[in-house]
Amino acid sequence: MKDLSKNYINGQWVNWAGDTIDVHEAGTGEVIAKVPASGREEMEQAIAAADDAFATWSESTLEQRIKVLEQLHAGLKERAGEIAETVCREVGMPIKLATGIQAGLPATITKTYLNMLPDFPFSEQSGNSEVQYAPVGVVGCITPWNYPLHQVILKVVPAIAAGCTVVLKPSEIAPQSAYILAEILDGSDLPKGVFNLVCGEGHTVGDTLIKHPDVNMVSFTGSTRTGNLIAHAAADDFKRIALEMGGKSASVILPDADLAAAVKGTVNNCLLNSGQTCTALTRMLVPAEQHDEACELAAAAVAKMTPGNPLEETTRLGPLASAQQRDKVIDYIKLGIEEGHTLVAGGPEAPEGCDKGYFVKATVFGNVKPDSRLAQEEIFGPVLCVIPYNDEAEAIRIANGTQYGLSGAVWSADADKAKRVASKLRTGQVFVNGGAFNPMAPFGGFGHSGIGREFGKWGLEEFLEVRSLQL
Ligand code: NAD
Repeated sequence: MKDLSKNYINGQWVNWAGDTIDVHEAGTGEVIAKVPASGREEMEQAIAAADDAFATWSESTLEQRIKVLEQLHAGLKERAGEIAETVCREVGMPIKLATGIQAGLPATITKTYLNMLPDFPFSEQSGNSEVQYAPVGVVGCITPWNYPLHQVILKVVPAIAAGCTVVLKPSEIAPQSAYILAEILDGSDLPKGVFNLVCGEGHTVGDTLIKHPDVNMVSFTGSTRTGNLIAHAAADDFKRIALEMGGKSASVILPDADLAAAVKGTVNNCLLNSGQTCTALTRMLVPAEQHDEACELAAAAVAKMTPGNPLEETTRLGPLASAQQRDKVIDYIKLGIEEGHTLVAGGPEAPEGCDKGYFVKATVFGNVKPDSRLAQEEIFGPVLCVIPYNDEAEAIRIANGTQYGLSGAVWSADADKAKRVASKLRTGQVFVNGGAFNPMAPFGGFGHSGIGREFGKWGLEEFLEVRSLQL
C-alpha cells in the first residue's frame, strides 16, 4: 500500500500526520493507498504560496514557460506506464484503454499547448489600442475521479502557460496520478509556489479553496451539484469560474443511417470507462420503426462487453471506481425496471465471476420515455437508454430535452443532413457519423453541463484577463 500522507506546498513536500483517506482498487475493493484528509490550514498555506509566486510567474518569459512544459511532457511520457496502471487500478478503466487515454491524453494535451505557445497572441492591436492578455491570477483547480490526470492537465497546463499560479485539489477517490504530476513538476524548473497540491475532502479543503479571497479563479470539473455550490461561492467576490459538469448526451440515429454502425458506435461510446464519462452517449434516439432492431443490435454489442479484471490486456469493460458509484448505478437500473422501461440486456445483479470489486452489468433499456428519470438524470455507469422517435423534429426536441448539453452524435447516410441536424443540437460538441475526437477542438457544455471551454486556444483563454492600453 502506498503512503502518500503529504501535500506539495511552496515547492516542498509537507508531511501530514492527521486523518487520511483510503484509496481503493476498483477491481478488488482493497485499499491501495492513503492520502491526507488535509485541513483548511494546509489549503490556506498553499493559497498563500500561490499568491506569493504570482508576482514573479506572471512576469515569466514564454521561454521559461515552454521549458517547464517540455520537462512536464517528457516526464509524462517517461512515467506513462506507471500512470496507466495507477489509474486503471483506481478508476477501473481496462489497462489497454488506460494506456492510450488516461496516460496518453495528458501528454498529448501538454504537447498541443507546447505547439501553440510560441505563436499565441498575448497582445494584439485594435485601432489605437494595444490589447493585452494577462494571467488571471491564483487559480484553484478542483477535479473528479473518472479521468483523473487528464482533467488535471486540462487545467494546470494552460494555467501555467498563461502565467497563472495554481492550487490543485484532486479527487480524493483517484488522487495518485496528481502526486505523479507533482513529482514531475518538483523535478522541473518551475519556481516554488507556482504549483501546489493539497489533498482532502471537498467540504473542507475544497470549500476553503472556492471561498478564499486570494483565489481569483476556480476551474472545476465534476458534478453539476458541486458546480452549483462553486458558482454560488464565486458570486460573493466575483471570482472567475470555469465549470465542466455532467451530461446526458443523445446519439441521434436518422432513418437513412447505417444502423449497425451507428448502434455499435453509440454502445462503444456509452460504455467507455464503464460509462464513467461525462460525454457518454447514454440516450440512443432511433426511428420508432427501427427501435426493436436497434435494441437487438445493442444487446449483441453489449454481450461482447463482459466485465473483467481491468489489469488484463483483453478486458474491455472494467468495474466502476467506487462502491458508492456502483450502488448508485444499480439503484438506477432498479429504477428503470420500476419505471416500466424494457430491460433489453444486463440488470441489477452483479456480473458472474465478479464477486469482488465494483462491477455492474452493461445494461440496455428499450422504449425509454424521454421525460422519465432514467432518460433525464446522469447515471455515470454502463447504462444505455434506447428512445424511439417519430420524425426528425421530435428527435431534435428529445435530444435537446434535458438540462444538460455536453456532447451528442448524429448518424446519417447524407453528410449534409447529418450536419444540419448536428447544428440544431444545444450541446458543446457533436460527433457526426463517428467523427474522431480532436484535442484541439473546444470542449464544454451548454446549460447545466458547464460554463467555459477547455482544450486548445479556448482552454488557454479561460486563464487570461483582457487589458487594453489606449495609445
Ligand atoms: P464531484 O462534484 O462529487 O467531485 C468533484 C470534485 O469536487 C472532487 O474533487 C470533490 O472533492 C470536490 N468537491 C466536492 N464537494 C465540494 C465542495 N463542497 N466544495 C469544493 N469542492 C468540492 O464529482 P465526481 O463524482 O468526482 O465526478 C463525477 C462528475 O463529474 C459527473 O457528474 C461527471 O459528469 C462530471 N464530469 C464532467 C466532465 C466535463 O468535462 N464536463 C468531465 C468528467 C466528469
